[in-house]
Amino acid sequence: MFDYDFFVIGAGSGGVRASRMAATYGARVGLCEDYRVGGTCVIRGCVPKKLFVYASEYSAHFKDSRGFGWSSLDHHFDWPALIAAKDKEIDRLNGIYIQNLKNSGVEIIQARGKLLDAHTVELSSDQGIKKVTADKILIATGAWPQMPEIPGIEHAITSNEAFHLDNLPKNIAIVGGGYIAVEFAGIFNGMGVKTHLLYRGEQILRGFDLDIAQKLNEEMTKKNIDVRVKTNVSKITKSDNGLILTLTDGSNLEVDQVMYATGRKANIMGLGLSEIGVKMEQNGAIIVDEHYKTSVGNIFAVGDVTGRVQLTPVAIKEGAALAATEFNNTPTIVDYDNIPTAVFSQPSIGTVGMTEAEAIAKFGDDIKIYRSEYKSMKFTLSGRDERSLMKLIVQKSTDKVIGVHMIGPDSAEIIQGIAIAMKCGATKAEFDATVAVHPSSAEEFVLMK
Ligand code: NDP
Repeated sequence: MFDYDFFVIGAGSGGVRASRMAATYGARVGLCEDYRVGGTCVIRGCVPKKLFVYASEYSAHFKDSRGFGWSSLDHHFDWPALIAAKDKEIDRLNGIYIQNLKNSGVEIIQARGKLLDAHTVELSSDQGIKKVTADKILIATGAWPQMPEIPGIEHAITSNEAFHLDNLPKNIAIVGGGYIAVEFAGIFNGMGVKTHLLYRGEQILRGFDLDIAQKLNEEMTKKNIDVRVKTNVSKITKSDNGLILTLTDGSNLEVDQVMYATGRKANIMGLGLSEIGVKMEQNGAIIVDEHYKTSVGNIFAVGDVTGRVQLTPVAIKEGAALAATEFNNTPTIVDYDNIPTAVFSQPSIGTVGMTEAEAIAKFGDDIKIYRSEYKSMKFTLSGRDERSLMKLIVQKSTDKVIGVHMIGPDSAEIIQGIAIAMKCGATKAEFDATVAVHPSSAEEFVLMK
């Protein structure tokens, strides 16, 4: 008899959902976590990031307000006050997560887990080391920021540290051109930090629709972010005033802080996976089948540690599917088609389905592109120099909408509803037959000619 039916290593989005659902189905569930329950998303990812985005947007909102008759607004941004408020909110959410797990009957163990064999987990904590056994084990340890090994990289921070800086830097260089880099560029810039974004490729947000990536680059540049493409850092040196970055073109850039947002890799260190035969990709991502089974039959993995789609809602769906399959006799498969996603850059981006490049690669000239570029109504009076872009990609022969992309205010909110329509296989004719919500930005999607 095992100590548990199901033991989960890692209390992030995937692990928490899988353990709660399994317990609800009647399994005896244990869960270990070596940091804080909630994982990256709640503790040092999506949630605090979004709070920072809100905080940083006020500087532009204050400027906008003048065009609407507001004046004499005296504003001062207090970084420690934001950090304290954010920490309080994260503590509250952490408490809710713990309570929800307990209410579901999951036993939480504050410890670091390591697999000793297919059914035994060693748990190490300040209290010492103990062993537990389980019929089935889930690895849901997420991902960890990765940084290139260049001289002086020890002086760089990642998003992990950005959430806890004692002082707001006066200027910062952010290296990378993906989600985290562009989101934090907007955050720091909005808070008044001189921000440099250094990206090694031709255009930021590789993999996104090119029109959208280009637009973000333009809009960030208008907001005085120093966006430099085809630029990387070859060396970081400490100076009296801060850090000197030696760039690949030979020039130097002096900043107070450098933050790397150069991707995240599977968090598998110290789990003992190869010792017990769990197979991984070269980059450490755990290989799983469609039911999240690893090469060791009773060991499973979900979420970022599998290195497939690094998005919280995907990890949650995977955790739920695993629990339903293994503990509720309901084999469930996650559908990875048309996953909507948002980038909380400024302006924000919402996207679902194929990019124009992907659509051309798949359907050749059997596609039609609809584009609408406009100034949001709010920015007419405010005078803000920011434009939005919306794009529909339609397959001509079927009239199906196969890609929707937007950059502009409220993109994340708008794209969620569009994603439902796409999941239902909506055609352009059905978009056109939908009555517009007026006046709104979202209505552009049903008015494109
Ligand atoms: P991304 O994979 O999105 O971007 C990594 C960036 O770093 C790319 O621009 C990449 O360039 C660049 N890069 C990689 N290696 C190097 C290197 N050695 N030197 C210089 N540049 C390098 O990773 P992030 O870290 O931004 O985010 C990790 C994941 O977290 C995302 O993929 C996303 O799935 C998730 N996330 C989601 C969010 C959301 O839903 N809003 C928010 C934040 C994160 P290149 O393009 O050339 O490869």
